[in-house]
Amino acid sequence: ERASHLVGLVGSGIGPSLTPALHEREGEALGMRYLYRRLDLDVLGLAATDVGRVLDAARLTGFSGLNVTHPAKQTVLAHLDHVDDDAAALGAVNTVVFTPHGAVGHNTDRSGFARSFRRGLPDAPVARVLLLGAGGAGAAVAHAMTDLGVGELLVADADRARAEALAGAVRDTGRASTSVVALADVDRVLAGVDGLVHATPTGMAAHPGSPVTTEALRGDLWVADVVYRPLATALVTAARARRLRVLDGGGMAVFQAVDAFRHFTGVEPDAGRMLAHFADL
Ligand code: NAD
Repeated sequence: ERASHLVGLVGSGIGPSLTPALHEREGEALGMRYLYRRLDLDVLGLAATDVGRVLDAARLTGFSGLNVTHPAKQTVLAHLDHVDDDAAALGAVNTVVFTPHGAVGHNTDRSGFARSFRRGLPDAPVARVLLLGAGGAGAAVAHAMTDLGVGELLVADADRARAEALAGAVRDTGRASTSVVALADVDRVLAGVDGLVHATPTGMAAHPGSPVTTEALRGDLWVADVVYRPLATALVTAARARRLRVLDGGGMAVFQAVDAFRHFTGVEPDAGRMLAHFADL
């Protein structure tokens, strides 16, 4: 009998997400019956604090698990029976698996960024890295950088309190030293770091432009952008034009799905095929 899985994405405004198609096409390629539903809180008339109701409904109706996105990645924690250490340290869950022992939370934004980085920027030095953006994606990436062996993580955000909170959380893990950089100092600080990770919405259609000046993109810097709509952000385009090593946001988007697929099914998907699927979506 073919393996069958029912999974879904819970969050707000998730209509345009490419994740459902990415999972379903891989399930089909593996010969599974694999259905990935959108459970949009806006459509359901529910708030982020109601995510527990969606979890209960999904568990009772036989879902294998759920991906969770904005605005429920933190509120979902209160409804889980177990959270793995990586997700607990970061305080956010994007993947829930319904097991016989209860609902288990993981964070594949963290593992997905780390895998994308190892693949796309192998051997990139990570002694000192500047992270611009300390929101949801920034937090996942900050903790992923500790998995990648970062020495010192410098954090900047338009909301300084967010940068301070994230720097403090990373420092508390004891795995990297951290400092907070004022937004006005970002271009200057770039002269003394190995790489820049960008995790604000700048570069999306609604937030056009580049978060740093072109002059700050010097030759031996590497740049990783998490924005993936579009893939070729102003930052990615400017960094490529200056011949920097560049990682766009597509790898993180695909590898978060690769890791979630494995959590849901116990089967390792073909990451190369999922990258190719993503490129045609
Ligand atoms: P968020 O709202 O949680 O956080 C954004 C942060 O950026 C906030 O702390 C905000 O203060 C800061 N910020 C906004 N504009 C700024 C600016 N001009 N300068 C400095 N700081 C600024 O958003 P998020 O969920 O972290 O998403 C950020 C981006 O990452 C979005 O484009 C999203 O699509 C993308 N993302 C990509 C992936 C992926 O898999 N590649 C995953 C998650 C999010």
